[in-house]
Amino acid sequence: MSWFEPRKEKAAIPPAKALWAVCAKCKSHFPKAEWKAAGGICPKCGYHGRLSVRERIAATADEGTFKELFREVSYSDHLSFHDAAGDYKSKVEATIAKTGETESVVVGTCEIEGHKVVLGVMDFAFMGGSLGTGTGERIARACEAAVAAKLPLVMFSASGGARMQEGILSLMQMAKTSAAIGALKAAGLAYISVLTDPTTGGVSASYAMLGDINVAEPKALIGFAGRRVIENTIHQKLPADFQSAEYLLKHGFVDRIVERKDMRRFLATMLGHWGM
Ligand SMILES: [Zn+2]
Repeated sequence: MSWFEPRKEKAAIPPAKALWAVCAKCKSHFPKAEWKAAGGICPKCGYHGRLSVRERIAATADEGTFKELFREVSYSDHLSFHDAAGDYKSKVEATIAKTGETESVVVGTCEIEGHKVVLGVMDFAFMGGSLGTGTGERIARACEAAVAAKLPLVMFSASGGARMQEGILSLMQMAKTSAAIGALKAAGLAYISVLTDPTTGGVSASYAMLGDINVAEPKALIGFAGRRVIENTIHQKLPADFQSAEYLLKHGFVDRIVERKDMRRFLATMLGHWGM
């Protein structure tokens, strides 16, 4: 190493991205401070933007009640997977460094307006919220913890689907989490699933749709395969609101759409009805 290292130039953030938040649905621009003050909800169209796992916990749990569980469970690179863009291990380690999280779901216990629950929250910023072996293991353990403590489960999903870098074992998590939720229900405990933007692929095809009630945030994208894949397969144009929370509500796949500002109250009311 030489005494004088040339300074690494920091990649400049384009000014537009640094100052403005862009709504993913209506593409309107807002000053970042305004977007944040609105709770990540588009002031123009009402789209509920993505939250980090810690923001979601803060918005859901009573202050100071969240106790994280199973943080030691993390990803597994059993395939030593790499593709043209690089290896999985480096990518996931960079994500861990950037987000401060060690998996795409965080689970723990907390209270919601005084109701004790096991809470799971997914973060799309962690590898697209993908369902890896660590994700599935944390959810399965969360279910077991709920059964052991006789607590209901509340789960916020946000995911692009299975984590392809973990191959077939990633797909296996769909069956594993579904079985764990089956055991929770067999124990007579409630499960509320909240679908946030986006909830797709293997997550929508397993635990996200298995709630005793499934609720969604407004305008959330919810589906299995993407619009383009389906259109190219069936050679038909799909309706504009296809795979939106509102479309799913209309067709009976979602029980209710709840705005973010009302979510805590709604969850507490439901838990109260169940006597949980
Ligand atoms: Zn908007």
